[in-house]
Amino acid sequence: KEFAQISLKDIDDVAKSSFPLCMRHLFEKLREDHHLKHGGRMQLGLFLKGVGLKLDDALAFWKAEFSRKVGAERFDKEYSYSIRHNYGREGKRTDYTPYSCQKIISSTPGVGDHHGCPYRNFSEENLRAALNKMGVTGRAVGDVMDKVRNRHYQLACTLTFEAVHGSSCDAGINHPNQYFSDSQKIMQS
Ligand code: SF4
Repeated sequence: KEFAQISLKDIDDVAKSSFPLCMRHLFEKLREDHHLKHGGRMQLGLFLKGVGLKLDDALAFWKAEFSRKVGAERFDKEYSYSIRHNYGREGKRTDYTPYSCQKIISSTPGVGDHHGCPYRNFSEENLRAALNKMGVTGRAVGDVMDKVRNRHYQLACTLTFEAVHGSSCDAGINHPNQYFSDSQKIMQS
């Protein structure tokens, strides 16, 4: 079954219901700070492209936030190029693909960066709070934390998916866009 294109008016609801924690975190930080550093723009931008956000909507989405921080003019000059670039409309016109879990987990975010995999990068306290916010409570939180302690980040994400959706995910999570499409399948069934 094909999914409808994600549209700007639904994006906040869809982020809450179907984004994996890595993308929820970037999305929330962008809404909060009206800015993301390069690594975050790439990780979230390519994910959004992968879930079907059209280039025009992507430009409108990023511009609405960045304009509040750096102004519309600076957005057009400094940031819109890289978004168009992600969609293969600039430079070598490569159609860039969204990052896999493996790539995200092995990234090394620095100070002020919000990309990477939260299961790997968050403190235990912040991770517990983020899980609670996603609706994961009680024993499920402990099960997720066990996987994290053993550095099984994708299994931790899989358990989160199962707790959030009340449904098993036998294949396991290996890509944020797979998390999204599996979630949408459940939501729309
Ligand atoms: Fe994102 Fe993958 Fe980490 Fe889940 S395991 S939070 S989908 S990078």
